[in-house]
Amino acid sequence: MTEALDPGARRAILEAVDALRDDAVETLARLVRHPSTLGNEAGALEEMAGLYASLGLTPRRVPTVPEELAAHPGFSPPLISYAGRDNVVALHRPKTRSGRSLALQGHVDVVPEGAADMWATPPYAPEIRNGRVYGRGAGDMKAGIVSYCMAFKAMRLAGLQPAAEVQLQSVIEEECSGNGALACMLALPRTDAVIIPEPGPGMDALYTAEVGVVWAWVTVSGRPAHVRDMQAGVNAIEAASIIAAAFKDYEREMNRAERIHPAFRGLNHPVNVNLGTIEGGEWNSSVATRCRIGMRVGVMMGYTARQTRADIEALVAKATQHERLRGAQVKLEFKGFMADPCVFDTDAAIVQLARRSYAETTGGALRDYPATGLTDGRFFTLYQDTPVACFGPDAVDIHGIDENVGLDSMHGITRTIALTMAEWCGVERI
Ligand SMILES: [Zn+2]
Repeated sequence: MTEALDPGARRAILEAVDALRDDAVETLARLVRHPSTLGNEAGALEEMAGLYASLGLTPRRVPTVPEELAAHPGFSPPLISYAGRDNVVALHRPKTRSGRSLALQGHVDVVPEGAADMWATPPYAPEIRNGRVYGRGAGDMKAGIVSYCMAFKAMRLAGLQPAAEVQLQSVIEEECSGNGALACMLALPRTDAVIIPEPGPGMDALYTAEVGVVWAWVTVSGRPAHVRDMQAGVNAIEAASIIAAAFKDYEREMNRAERIHPAFRGLNHPVNVNLGTIEGGEWNSSVATRCRIGMRVGVMMGYTARQTRADIEALVAKATQHERLRGAQVKLEFKGFMADPCVFDTDAAIVQLARRSYAETTGGALRDYPATGLTDGRFFTLYQDTPVACFGPDAVDIHGIDENVGLDSMHGITRTIALTMAEWCGVERI
């Protein structure tokens, strides 16, 4: 057990965080300039390797190897190859270990920017307006990554370092599979706790629970015809829309009050089915021969990704019997998320310490947040029994247009992580 942090060290660390405030904003801007969407993470990962090196650590690459992960219950079927997209980690080792070890984890991948012309400023040209940084990934979750890096840097600036092992992890594919997080978790020693600074929804928040997610893809091949013989053909787009409607019926069913786990009570519509992508058709005057739809299906606590997969198989099989799909071929695939829901242990010592540190450094309280989306926190919770404190800055319009994060909020989170790390790991002179 570590002794309480002495007041001099505490003051020195917090002063160092304050001194690094401009550095934090510049680092965030540098990271946001990398359009690190799926398959394009290399630049952001390189940036992270440089950042870790600037903290006096030796960055190391951790590949994501599907063959090695496939048997793990947390594995999701990949969407694309992992070549050239290795995760980046760095390990701090103390001179004398006296405290508890910690992992600081964040994802560098971002979701697509959507209609770039709808953004007030270009999504990958970060801009500060009214104390907030705008840009894709600014909130989700590059600000959080910068926070944990600056927390570590502040300690060193104060002439100190954690008196226990600290892992820094930058992972890919949090937004579509979680396989990057899984690969890193399995490649590194288990730590006594994990901090993941995922953003809060318009407020500083602490994740108390999260839904699971399954990604399903349905490809309908119809029967082509000229529109003048329309009745002779099967329109793949119309057929796909019948199947999509069946998914929305399923969504209504899964949101019935008796299915909602206590951790999600009070939330309006916690289980969401999103019709995310559609591609199909060839010509306005031809009956569409092929259409593919991509869906994201939420999984309520108490239910599993596997059960949801079986439900989807059944609902697609049933929808395929519809008279207007007669003669159509329907292919169902599962690629991307096959993720179980989880409830975080908010009584865990790391969570209580994070709450206390937040209150001490900001004067406020972290709000509880049962999330209708997911984080990489599930891996440590479900498969490693490692307590996770998942909390982060106030971000608005993540996954939307004009995503942004509050700079005061980010600063408060950095102070919180710095203090939490110092208390959890203990400190020693460099
Ligand atoms: Zn995120």
